[in-house]
Amino acid sequence: MYEVHHYVNGTVVQGKSNRFGPIFNPSIGEQIGKVALASKEEVENVIAAAEAAQPAWAAQSVVRRARILQNLVTILYREKDNLAKALSREHGKVFSDAQGDVQRGLEVAEFAAGMPHLLKGEFSQNVGGNIDMYNVRSPLGVVAGITPFNFPAMIPLWMSCIAIATGNAFVMKPSEKDPSVPMLLADCWKEAGLPDGIFNVVHGDKEAVDTVCTDPRVKAVSFVGSTSIAKYVYETANAHGKRCQAMGGAKNHMAILPDADLEKVADALIGSAYGSAGERCMAISVAVCVGDDVADKLVGMLKPRVESLHVGHSMDPKAEMAALVTSEHRAKVKGYLDLAEEEGATLVVDGRGFKMTEEGFENGYYLGATLIDNVTAEMKSYKDEIFGPTLQIVRVNTLEEAIALPSQHEYGNGTSIFTASGNAAREYANRVEVGMVGVNVPIPVPLAFHSFGGWKNSAFGDINQHGMEGIRFYTKTKTISQRWLNDITAGAEFAIPTLN
Ligand code: NAD
Repeated sequence: MYEVHHYVNGTVVQGKSNRFGPIFNPSIGEQIGKVALASKEEVENVIAAAEAAQPAWAAQSVVRRARILQNLVTILYREKDNLAKALSREHGKVFSDAQGDVQRGLEVAEFAAGMPHLLKGEFSQNVGGNIDMYNVRSPLGVVAGITPFNFPAMIPLWMSCIAIATGNAFVMKPSEKDPSVPMLLADCWKEAGLPDGIFNVVHGDKEAVDTVCTDPRVKAVSFVGSTSIAKYVYETANAHGKRCQAMGGAKNHMAILPDADLEKVADALIGSAYGSAGERCMAISVAVCVGDDVADKLVGMLKPRVESLHVGHSMDPKAEMAALVTSEHRAKVKGYLDLAEEEGATLVVDGRGFKMTEEGFENGYYLGATLIDNVTAEMKSYKDEIFGPTLQIVRVNTLEEAIALPSQHEYGNGTSIFTASGNAAREYANRVEVGMVGVNVPIPVPLAFHSFGGWKNSAFGDINQHGMEGIRFYTKTKTISQRWLNDITAGAEFAIPTLN
């Protein structure tokens, strides 16, 4: 049993609240540690440390700040496997997928290392009367990130790399389910040369989140997690005058047209639906087959693939899918499978009876992969996010219906279409009411230099994560109109200046 405490001002600080949350190893199904849950006062102390450190960091040349990011990139590559091991242990995902989790975060550090170029403002010479006009992007001050359990390396890095490279001090409130990776990231930042107080980690639950969202010293809150909490965080932070981006849940559809190569579609679906046991906000959880013929053939191809998926513990090199994060979450996913059956859908492959037999792992939070056919838009099991190893098949007759389903769904995170028709793909991409679209790409997660964000109940706030949008989120614009006194020829002017 180990304990995880906070990281403040460049050092580990013991939690004082005497409240702890359990840390489980999902692969073996046992509690392996506990994480300190901060009180309001403890969170306030972290914010104070960040506030004290931020001005000197913002005053640093952006070139120097970017060099810290360059160092961080080198360290993260070196530490990738250690981070991935710690990540797998607490999250449960397979090691190769955990390496991907670190890699996708590290790529945001690579992007942020280009901050001298990215922060360049706009300049207009002599807009009138010898006035030059330019704008700069200034940091906000202290900003906070609140993150979910499912990407404990990538999402903290999405937020912190851009926030810090733009000159802010960052307060991280990670998921209490897998809190160790952000602590290791803190060590990486320190080794990279980041001054103390600029990257801080405070663990906690609602009390910590509420403090971050209401404290006037925090200027912006970035949140990723489930929709109900995203909405709550967005509304609370906004009501307290803060900028907020809050990413929520998802139900991602893949449309499959009759001209698609179904073998390739089946492979794409297996990886995107069952990878990370479906605990990804960009997992495809609904396959929309255009035509019964497509659905029948695809189900025939998917069935043996789903049945033969290798479920193993996180460090099993053969494992394609591992345990779910907690036994509660597994029970919730199972509940949705029961519900789908009650609602009249067909469980073509039923993972509920899966038993892990490997010695030492019998009590892990494993669930077999499930394939569900004949799902309809009226079913609750279709409407809700399940977040587990399951794929639902919905049958439609036209492209119009395939566009309508994800467009009318409350979530709008990601979607994709598989087809050989450029016209159909273009129509789908242009019209579908979803924030991230793949064309023959199953998981269309934008790279670091583009921006990540869904629509509708998948994201509150209008500025996405990372890319140029991330830079806009963590900075405010100042526009300067400049003229030198010896150019001023006229006396006092009382009408608004124009170029008429
Ligand atoms: P969650 O909402 O339970 O937790 C997210 C964060 O909110 C955690 O830090 C947690 O401590 C905090 N939190 C939990 N309950 C709270 C409460 N009552 N008040 C205040 N704060 C609270 O989410 P999760 O289970 O950790 O993550 C899975 C969810 O995240 C899924 O819905 C998934 O779709 C979503 N997600 C979305 C994206 C995206 O970019 N859209 C990315 C990854 C995950």
